Amino acid sequence: MSLHALRGHEGARAALARAYARGVLPSALLFHGPRGVGKQRLALWLAQLLVCELPGEGPCGSCPACKMAASLEHPDVHWYFPLPRPKSVAGDRLVDALEEARLEELAAIREQPRRASHTDEVRGLYVGTVRSIRQKAYKRPVMAPGQVFIIGDADALVPQEASPEAANALLKVLEEPPGNCRFILTTSEAGHLPPTIPSRTVPLHLAPLSEPEVAAFLRDEAGAGAKEADWAAGLSQGSIGRALGFLPEGGEPGPLEKLRRQAFEIVAATDGPRASTGHVLALGFPPAGARTLVELFGFVEEWLRDLAAIASGARETVIHRDALAELDRLAAKGDLVPYRVATAFSQVERARELAVANVNPQLVVGSLVRELRHSLAQLPSAEVPA
Ligand SMILES: [Zn+2]
Repeated sequence: MSLHALRGHEGARAALARAYARGVLPSALLFHGPRGVGKQRLALWLAQLLVCELPGEGPCGSCPACKMAASLEHPDVHWYFPLPRPKSVAGDRLVDALEEARLEELAAIREQPRRASHTDEVRGLYVGTVRSIRQKAYKRPVMAPGQVFIIGDADALVPQEASPEAANALLKVLEEPPGNCRFILTTSEAGHLPPTIPSRTVPLHLAPLSEPEVAAFLRDEAGAGAKEADWAAGLSQGSIGRALGFLPEGGEPGPLEKLRRQAFEIVAATDGPRASTGHVLALGFPPAGARTLVELFGFVEEWLRDLAAIASGARETVIHRDALAELDRLAAKGDLVPYRVATAFSQVERARELAVANVNPQLVVGSLVRELRHSLAQLPSAEVPA
């Protein structure tokens, strides 16, 4: 099975192909932009172009090298991405275990190119990963003029672990790539990259895709119906990865759709008749594992943003268009004015900090609902607990 077709990014593709044809393509690139817009897919496209025997405005797609690259089997194209840390191994065994895990994941992607991107597992790029990249980089390419290394989600390079030696090893190969090695790093969290990486790579920003591009992907590659594809694309903010998270899985709402609904409950609870609504809602959360709340609070912020859009008469900018009627009702009831929403945003930000600090989720959610009731619902002060 081959990788799914690359969508969008025509401008970036043309610029990369032109630079390559003129011999001015930088040896270390950094693709940055929102999560799920296809940065690693574009990196794989570029890798295919770099090994293609008849390159033009893109990889020819039909030479043996192109075919091997498209099925993730080209011996000179190495795709790295964050992985769960292998348990109870260290040293050189760790390098081997990571490489084994990477090859297993590549095999899984080959089977199912629509890679699931939602996982609660902690994943990283470890010292062992860097060591493996370095070992390969100093070997000769097997059939292409040079090797290509893709390092996806490079912000996941684990800093606290990285001995200075390992960090320096990566910087050195980025700065002076051995042979004809090329490196393509990707990140959606450029601010979290080790500071030395941006200065050694040439950045290329990738913008969100258009809604029709996302919808076409969902129909053609993910088997979504036309209506479902349009709905998820409308919520996607130009990210295929995000859109996939809304699609139902095995008769259940998708993982992001679950979070989106849960976030709406938090915002809507501010409208409930009694302050206890928040406590009841909070009890639905597990008493531990607060870090998973961070994504939930992202959705709470989106709902607040939508409420603010409606309150300021900018209905056309609402993200969650399928909930316009409910948003209207909430906005009208709360008599929203901008400073109320601004206060609510800072309350969510504070809740996020508590979640990152691993405070009990029931406490975090309970106090967030209580605070939001205060800021959004214009309650008489007597009803607001101190
Ligand atoms: Zn080719």
